[in-house]
Amino acid sequence: MKIAIIGAGPAGLAAALRLHQQGFSPVIYEKVREIKPLGVGLDIKVYGVRELDELGLLEQFEEISNEAVDSIFYNNHGQEIYAEKCGTHMGYLHEQRFVHRGYLQMLLYRTVLERLGEDAIQLGVGLERYENTGSGVKLHLARRDGETFEEDVDVLIGADGIKSVVRAQMHPTESDPKFSGIRMYRGVTVMDPYRDSHTILHIGAPRIASMIVYPLHLDYEGTGKALINWVVETEGEEMYEDWNTPGDVDDLIPRFEDTKLPFLDVQQMLRDAKEVYVYPLVDHDPLDRWVDGRVVLIGDAAHAMYPRGGNGACQSIVDGRVLAERLAASQNAPEVGLQEFEDARLEGVNRLVMANRGEAYEVIRRLVQDRTDAQPFDDIEEVLPMAEADKIFSHYHGLAGQPRPGYEDGETTGFRTWEAEDSWENQHAVR
Ligand SMILES: Cc1cc2nc3c(=O)[nH]c(=O)nc-3n(C[C@H](O)[C@H](O)[C@H](O)COP(=O)(O)OP(=O)(O)OC[C@H]3O[C@@H](n4cnc5c(N)ncnc54)[C@H](O)[C@@H]3O)c2cc1C
Repeated sequence: MKIAIIGAGPAGLAAALRLHQQGFSPVIYEKVREIKPLGVGLDIKVYGVRELDELGLLEQFEEISNEAVDSIFYNNHGQEIYAEKCGTHMGYLHEQRFVHRGYLQMLLYRTVLERLGEDAIQLGVGLERYENTGSGVKLHLARRDGETFEEDVDVLIGADGIKSVVRAQMHPTESDPKFSGIRMYRGVTVMDPYRDSHTILHIGAPRIASMIVYPLHLDYEGTGKALINWVVETEGEEMYEDWNTPGDVDDLIPRFEDTKLPFLDVQQMLRDAKEVYVYPLVDHDPLDRWVDGRVVLIGDAAHAMYPRGGNGACQSIVDGRVLAERLAASQNAPEVGLQEFEDARLEGVNRLVMANRGEAYEVIRRLVQDRTDAQPFDDIEEVLPMAEADKIFSHYHGLAGQPRPGYEDGETTGFRTWEAEDSWENQHAVR
């Protein structure tokens, strides 16, 4: 079966590797001329690490990433409001890890070239449109120099990201991104590590001064310093979506005047940033279908979500596995496999998109802010009882497909509509 994938981001590359494991030889068309390690940090949850493990990449992934041990939440005065353990420290079978997006992409890219061959990725070739022909799909492609050509394939996988051309053609009236009113500043700072070097911090009040911080490397390029990733959300004007637009931290620093942590000077961290980008916080309304004949959407093209909760990249990687399994099982009727993939994934992932729009578990920081009028508190139990926070977290992790060990109750079972009852998560991660 001839399969084309559009886009060599994490979704397209992981899908190519999963399809290869199932005996297929897909070809990726990527519009950029060269794959460069762009972006900043990604939080790879336990089920994402498990996917990389199953791809035989665990050891290499560990080399380029940093383990997450603690996840701690603070109000805008630096008072702790909640904490949870991550990965194996929480009882899961896999670790949770932080990685530079570009390093993950390069690892997947190199592995595709090694396993599928140099011709498996055609760089500098963009898809302009597709045509379902009944027995297959005709691709209309263009090289960077303007030359256009056509290619006939059996299946087309649109993994072309948040501004997907495939999605725009499949859903012409539903492809406008939804702007949240928030701008997201993403940066990295080379500095001394904080705390135990394995902690993700969630600081401050959404819409006032919200920041997430985590360490990507502990010895960045042999400097002995850590590479710390941070994301600040602030209210702002709508802007063009380009992952590489440079940002300015000057406006951000005063917002953290009151945020005093004993182990981290957040204002200094912002001041010393090595790279800063600004991006509008956008997602898309959930789609009611990802399949059009022999064409299917995966990754951000199918389900762009706010990065809150850190599930966008992980869900994109899961797509590749489920799609490859279903295509392999459908023998010579790929439209059946594509539909089964959509049936298995769409409903649950759409719920996650909506949960992230509703602030995901980061909502606890807004609850504390609202209940205290953004003032310091005396006793967190009177503001946000532990049982209430636990319930929010258990519910969200269940939605993402990694129900919290020990919290398997009615609140955490939503994922079962899209992951099989006998899934790995059910067998191993739940109890
Ligand atoms: C440059 C860049 C930087 C990013 N930085 C971050 C970050 O710092 N933090 C974060 O959380 N997320 C970041 N993301 C988004 C993150 O990678 C995705 O949310 C997630 O990993 C899902 O990946 P994806 O493969 O679906 O989409 P993407 O990673 O967006 O990949 C899509 C790929 O498709 C290619 N493409 C698009 N249109 C066409 C076309 N018509 N023909 C051929 N190829 C096409 C793009 O060039 C890109 O390589 C970034 C994305 C990009 C492209």
